Amino acid sequence: MVKKFDPSCVNLHTHSYYCGHGIGELSEYVEIAKEEGLEVLGFSEHCPMPHNRWPGSRMHFDRLEQYIGQCKELQLEHTDITLLTGLECDYDRDYHSWYQEYLLDSNRVDYLIAGVHYLTNESVTDRYIQHFPNDKKALHLYTNQYIETLSSGLFNLGVHPDLFGMFYYEWDEEALACSKSILECASSLDIPLEINGYGLNKPTINTKRGKRRQYPLIDFWQLSKEYSISIVANSDAHRPKDVVSQAQDAHLFATSVNLTISSLNIETSIEGDMNLFFS
Ligand SMILES: [Zn+2]
Ligand SMILES: [Zn+2]
Repeated sequence: MVKKFDPSCVNLHTHSYYCGHGIGELSEYVEIAKEEGLEVLGFSEHCPMPHNRWPGSRMHFDRLEQYIGQCKELQLEHTDITLLTGLECDYDRDYHSWYQEYLLDSNRVDYLIAGVHYLTNESVTDRYIQHFPNDKKALHLYTNQYIETLSSGLFNLGVHPDLFGMFYYEWDEEALACSKSILECASSLDIPLEINGYGLNKPTINTKRGKRRQYPLIDFWQLSKEYSISIVANSDAHRPKDVVSQAQDAHLFATSVNLTISSLNIETSIEGDMNLFFS
């Protein structure tokens, strides 16, 4: 059975107090989502890793089962909204089989989304991307990591692909080439990319061309029109009150650059396995 949802009634990028830099219980997000008319709410807490890799932005690994259990309990409790259990991941090929087997094959999660939040080069390991210098090397590192992440085949959605705008300030040949690489990759693998509502509400930065958002980047999304890709609008909420409003901001951004947001389809097998796709 396939059920198709109107894009304005879906949010697949939601955090909570679990990650340590968000607030609110999962149940508070559900209440607001229902009050404000969402039909699908996907929880996508930052994925804790074995050995607690990338500890600055995620729950301790020991809490993962509790988080997953709570997501699933909430779905049993609330039959009038579809609640999906997911995680937002950073990718490293060392963990590929753990993502595949422990999270996906076991049906612990319904879906995984991925972005690039940390980079490693010859002198620093796992540094948050905002702290990288405004240079081409860092931009290339980001782009390669984003492409490797999408190419892993593990993820339903690439989130904030234009997050490089946090540290790379120009829209020049280099930014254009890297953006094209990311868009080409998403298009050829048929993985949707996300317009991120959280970025729309973050402080602006000063660049040579004046003040602009860190992300989403208007130039990136204008360029996306040259590619056949699905685009999704999410809130990336870290507070219950943002769960719908920031998604609406992302939809308004899409309208302002003339982009159409794809619909989420959820296919459920007789065995209860879930497959998410966009059309
Ligand atoms: Zn976060
Ligand atoms: Zn993120």
